[in-house]
Amino acid sequence: MSRPLSPGQTVGIIGGGQLGRMLAMAAARLGFRIVVLEPDPHCPAAQVANSQIVGAYDDGKALQQLAEASDVITYEFENVPVVAARAVAERTSLFPPTEALEAAQDRLTEKIFLNSTGISTAPFVSVDSDENLAQGLARFGGSGVLKTRRLGYDGKGQRVFRNALPRQAAGVHAALGGVPLILEGLVPFEREISVIAARGRDGAVVAYDAAENEHHEGILRQTLVPARIPAATARAARDATFQILEELHYVGVIAVEFFVLGNGAIVANEMAPRVHNSGHWTEAACACSQFEQHIRAVAGLPLGGTDRLADCVMQNLLGDEQDTAPQLLAEKDVVVHLYGKTESRPGRKMGHFTRLIRS
Ligand code: AMP
Repeated sequence: MSRPLSPGQTVGIIGGGQLGRMLAMAAARLGFRIVVLEPDPHCPAAQVANSQIVGAYDDGKALQQLAEASDVITYEFENVPVVAARAVAERTSLFPPTEALEAAQDRLTEKIFLNSTGISTAPFVSVDSDENLAQGLARFGGSGVLKTRRLGYDGKGQRVFRNALPRQAAGVHAALGGVPLILEGLVPFEREISVIAARGRDGAVVAYDAAENEHHEGILRQTLVPARIPAATARAARDATFQILEELHYVGVIAVEFFVLGNGAIVANEMAPRVHNSGHWTEAACACSQFEQHIRAVAGLPLGGTDRLADCVMQNLLGDEQDTAPQLLAEKDVVVHLYGKTESRPGRKMGHFTRLIRS
């Protein structure tokens, strides 16, 4: 195993959004230099990085430049093309490993992987035509969630069916772009939770307390910690997450989302091989945030403490909601984080805040 990074060495980050920005800020605090690869020259991460390579994530030349400039490379989103990631990994260390990207990029391979490790998911069928869809709907009693296998996020590229007749499948495949799809059975969940965990280069693992997530129109609205779930459910979710980390020989932070059923059982929904919106609360309520944890892991440093020092609620600031920042800043136990995005659009994540709840 190579030596840990020393202060002054460089962390390369593929992707320049708010996650990249917060990773860069955490890396800077540990004394590292940061270079960001991102096509948008005004991206949130480049504003706080030492330098930016303006280029596409799959631009061979730009990736080579990044590899030459970096002592270790990581990424802020899971849609880095696997071929590009492999090319980078041949030249310098890349964490999390490309196996994790491959497993998480495609909802079908993701579910097959999860099931192969004994972790249950919604029942699913691969859909490549309206006929497949009609058969799948018949199998799931007319109900299900149809999703694009790749490149879906925040509920985009999805369609929910309830008590649908087979003929309602007509034209749906083309309407969703004719791309490979997956139909999942509808899970009658009571809550949605996520576990943010990390594995170091030495194989050490840590996890933060499970968080409870509330979505609105596919976008995370707020995260409550601790999640209102039995201790056994929290343990099962943490253990499943650790198992995923081991199976993938993972290095870095991972987020795994689960549905919690009425009887406390968990059903994995998806995993993200990166820091995650539902882990933003850790910057306010833990000694070591998910961002610092990730940088520590990929840099080969000891992992940080994950104890939760207070209960809390994290809320995203979408669109114009960032205008409420001055009022939030007037509250004593609120930690505000804005992303430096110049253009505000309805539903766009402009920032977040975490309110500590102290008894
Ligand atoms: P996803 O993009 O997979 O995270 O899905 C977005 C949201 O849709 C989830 O947070 C759930 O609220 C809902 N959802 C996704 N898949 C299912 C499912 N199989 N059963 C019930 N609800 C689902």
